[in-house]
Amino acid sequence: MTVTSLRDGYVDMPVRRLRQPGDIAFGDDLPSQVSLVDGALRLSVNAFAIDDGNDITLIDTGSSNAWRSTMGHLPEALREAKIATGRIRTVAFTHTHLDHIHGLILADGGDGFPQLSRLLVPRAELDMFREVARLERFHDRAQPFDAGQRLGANIETIAAAGHEVGHTCFRVTSAGETLLIWGDTVHVPSLQFDRPEIAWEFDADREQARASRLRLLALAADSACFVAGAHLDSPGVGRVFRTETGFRFEPV
Ligand SMILES: [Zn+2]
Repeated sequence: MTVTSLRDGYVDMPVRRLRQPGDIAFGDDLPSQVSLVDGALRLSVNAFAIDDGNDITLIDTGSSNAWRSTMGHLPEALREAKIATGRIRTVAFTHTHLDHIHGLILADGGDGFPQLSRLLVPRAELDMFREVARLERFHDRAQPFDAGQRLGANIETIAAAGHEVGHTCFRVTSAGETLLIWGDTVHVPSLQFDRPEIAWEFDADREQARASRLRLLALAADSACFVAGAHLDSPGVGRVFRTETGFRFEPV
């Protein structure tokens, strides 16, 4: 099995997206460890291709031209990685926010993955997906999946609701190693490993998102697996370790 990190681009977000317990935004008390670019939080946007030697399963697809122009570079990332889009037979979403789903359709309107045979959407978000007008031609093709369901011999799905109602992680095991593709478990790596209680304004349920983040960080640290994050700095793969008060991330 080979997993490739694909960079769709980045998105700059205001600091107020970060939320302390009690839904309090930061002001002058923003911890100095938070890395900013021109005063904004710069989130990498990553997708991950899992190649089992036959077919490729793509986890998330970037945002194509549906959001900001700093994203939509997935096709170039695939070319750079020498991954033919025709080999991608399965696409599965961690959740249905726009920076994860719109790559199904290219900026020119064509299909991103011409040989797509399985389009997997978390069951709790199937209706949300079917409300996205730009992706109308995929509404009927989308199949729901449930956390705990296997996508193949080596890919297992894990419930991680909170950021969104159906937010799901994908655990890939191969040759004695494990990689947890954890979607939007962490948005701001410079802060949320150290302080996992800090939530994100766009979390559908911040309390639940906090609990899921804590559980997944503990799982990653205690099982010594690799993690891959949609918004960890590209390529967004590394290991998690416990510290005295929280966690820390060590990129590979
Ligand atoms: Zn996201």
